[in-house]
Amino acid sequence: MITVSQDRLCLQAKEGLKITVTTMLEEKTVRKMIELYCRRHHGTGKKDLCPSCAQLLAYCVERINKCPFGTAKPVCSKCSIHCYREEKRDHIRQVMRSAGPRMLFHSPFLTLRYLLRKILFSACRDRRARQADN
Ligand SMILES: [Zn+2]
Repeated sequence: MITVSQDRLCLQAKEGLKITVTTMLEEKTVRKMIELYCRRHHGTGKKDLCPSCAQLLAYCVERINKCPFGTAKPVCSKCSIHCYREEKRDHIRQVMRSAGPRMLFHSPFLTLRYLLRKILFSACRDRRARQADN
């Protein structure tokens, strides 16, 4: 009995750790993008954010932490839920368009991780769609 509950605890801990790592990397990616965007468009210094971008970041972090998919979280642009409020979604789209291409030079690891997840998620979704068609 003890081993069963220990196994379960271990599994829960592993799952918790995976969620923490996923959340941390997602937060890091969005923070970096908003920083790049804010520096270029609002003239703020490195690692600094203007009030509106700081608000956007806080909002994004909140959404990431509330994401119901946990470790299976897709990239937001490919998600079926679209949990962002209209004006925040517009703002983050501008950020992505502006900072996206520059991300590869500033944070190659985070960018490659993001692109890989985007491709993988699209592939999974296409396969599910094909299975549903058959
Ligand atoms: Zn800004």
